[in-house]
Parts: sequence; structure tokens; C-alpha cells
Amino acid sequence: MIPLSLPNISGNELKYVKECLETGWISTAGSYVDKFENSFAEFVGVKNAVSTMNGTSALHLALKVLGVGYDDLVIMPNITFVASANSISYLGAKPLLIDIDENSWQMDLELLEDYLKNNCSFDSRKRVIDQKTQKNVAAIMIVHVQGNICNMNRLREIADRYNLPLIEDAAEALGSKYHNSYAGTLGDVGCYSFNGNKIMSTGGGGMVVGKSAKIMKKIKHLSTTAKTDPLRYFHDEIGYNYRLVNVLSAIGVAQLEQLQSFIDRKIEISKFYRENLKGIGDINFQMIEKDIVSNEWLFTITTKKMEELLDFLNNNGVMSRPFWIPMNELPMYKDCIYISKSNKSKKVHSRALSIPCSTGITDIELHDVVKKIRSFFKIASK
Ligand SMILES: *Cc1c(COP(=O)(O)O)cnc(C)c1O
Repeated sequence: MIPLSLPNISGNELKYVKECLETGWISTAGSYVDKFENSFAEFVGVKNAVSTMNGTSALHLALKVLGVGYDDLVIMPNITFVASANSISYLGAKPLLIDIDENSWQMDLELLEDYLKNNCSFDSRKRVIDQKTQKNVAAIMIVHVQGNICNMNRLREIADRYNLPLIEDAAEALGSKYHNSYAGTLGDVGCYSFNGNKIMSTGGGGMVVGKSAKIMKKIKHLSTTAKTDPLRYFHDEIGYNYRLVNVLSAIGVAQLEQLQSFIDRKIEISKFYRENLKGIGDINFQMIEKDIVSNEWLFTITTKKMEELLDFLNNNGVMSRPFWIPMNELPMYKDCIYISKSNKSKKVHSRALSIPCSTGITDIELHDVVKKIRSFFKIASK
């Protein structure tokens, strides 16, 4: 079976982890935590980064620090991994779902702007209020789905016009660029994930970045149980134990050393597929605008024969997976406000299929995947 997307641990991972084990620094203190945070910040070009135990906890902290609270609404796209919505729910807030653009698969900014203009008003404190529910719209969480990025200049302008903090869920977009700035550094706070399937992995892990030193200090504080006196166990508010441990940070440092080569390979794989699958059956690809460099994290195609192709590939040695189910179709989010004209989420979801794209995939395997897809469409057209 050619796997979908495996972690690539061919660098200094073992060496650094061994060092942690041999010196006894395995837990929340140790030099690799700082090293990982510093080299990560340097890579994406910001001053501050705080590591967390996963991407979900990174999002949870980011939302909290930007002021999202009980009964608020947070705007987010309807197609994403469920963690985006869950992190909002942990604060007692509710996702407000916006349909996606059919071509880029990112949040449809036209719909966002229409919603804010026609369905919201400001209260006396200049907060945005959803007129129907009278709830406070507290933030926008943009998700860079599959490593692609929406028109961030336009989004920033909309967010500023409505006084809304902008959080980037850049879990899938580490290394993607918009006008030469890295995904995650374009909003007020950006969050990343180092889960096993992401472009680089620490097994499990996450990172938060932000421009404001004050906000980043607060995030660090909350992620380390809000301790103000390390000797006497004084904690000044309800904090979280969301730290990334030294052993995993050591893996992170080693992964980061190879990140550029992972990105380069992912882009190469995407180029190969885009060239070699073009014109086969009704296959189509995610559209990426000229001012964006996607990290091409998880290569995904669309076809009306998605279900049949999915079965065929999984039965023929090529692991493939459908896209995430839209949030408004999950039981816990089906009653959320969903802004849509013609439910493009459903359409894209019914057609999208991810295919093998590990950074370690061989060229022979890539050709094999194309051959299998070609043969599926040959049989299907008979
Ligand atoms: C992976 C992912 C997350 C969550 O990351 P974890 O590290 O698994 O908690 C959040 N948002 C998106 C869009 C993701 O793909």
C-alpha cells in the first residue's frame, strides 16, 4: 500500500532525543523547548513563538487571549479539520460558519463581507452584534485549508473595518507564503500543528506566533499553568498545562532543520500530479492564486466519481482519503449559523479526494499512483 502522507524522520531526530534521555531532560524544562521556539520564530520571520502540546491547544489559547468568551460567535470556514471549531467550543463560544469558494476551497470572502454588512450591527461599545441572535461576533478564524491562502489583504481590511481580531489556523500551511510573508504571520495570532500527518511533525505538538509581545507573554503564561512564583506555586488565574515537552521539542528542532526540503518536495509532488493527472477523466485541482506559494501539504483532486475512485484506489494499493465532512453536517455543529448561497462545501466535499504525497514517496510510486488513476478512468469510461 502506498501510504497517504507519512512523517519523514531522517534527520537529527534520534541524536537530539538521545541527548534528552541521556541527560534526563525529558519533560517541560530543557534547552530544546527554547531552541525549538526560537528557531521556529526565525523560520517564519517573527520575534515570538510559544510551543504547545498540539495545534488544538494552540488555537484554544489564541482565541482566549484575543478575548473570545462564553456565548460569543467566531467566524470560520465551513470546511476544515474539526479542531478549528472545537477550540471555539471549549470557550463556550459558537462557530459561525461561512461557505467556501468552490475553486480555492478557502472561506468565501464575498459571503463574509455580505454577512457582516447585512446581518450585523455595532453596539455602543463598537462590538459587532449578529442581529438575529443578538450575540457578539468576537473574532475571525481563517483556516488555510490544504496549505492554500485566501486574499489576506482583503480579509485584513474587512477585519479592521469591523474591529475583529484575526486568528490564523495555519496548521496545514506551515511554509506557505502570501506576498512573501509566511502563513501564520499575517493575522494577529497564528497557530500551527505538528501532528503526525502535518508537513513537519513532533508526533504531537503545536505552536503559536504573534506580533504583540504582550499577547505572546500572556499565551506563554496561560500555557504554563499561569504560574507567577515558581518556588511557592503561586498561580494568578486558571491556566492550562499545554506545554510541549523537551523530548518532542528536540524532534521539532531536527524537523525544522529539514522543513525547507519537505516543502520543496511537496511542491515537486504537486507539480508532478498536476502535470500528469491533467485531462484524465474530469479531474480538477485546487486553484492557487499567483501571489500565493502553497506548501502543497496534502495533494487533493476533485472528480464526480470520487466515491468510486476512493474504493478503487484503496483496493488497489493506493491509500486515499475523502476531504473533511463540512462542519454544518456534524451533529454538534449542525445548528450553527451557516452563511451560504449554494452550499459549495457540500459540492467540494462530495468530489475531493487526497492521494499519496509523503515527502519520502519515490518517483516510481508517483508514477504508479498516476497509472492506477488512469486505469480507473479507462474502466469507468467503458
Ligand atoms: C491538524 C489541524 C489542527 C489541529 O492540530 P492538532 O495538532 O491535531 O491538534 C487544527 N486545524 C487544522 C485545520 C488542522 O488541519
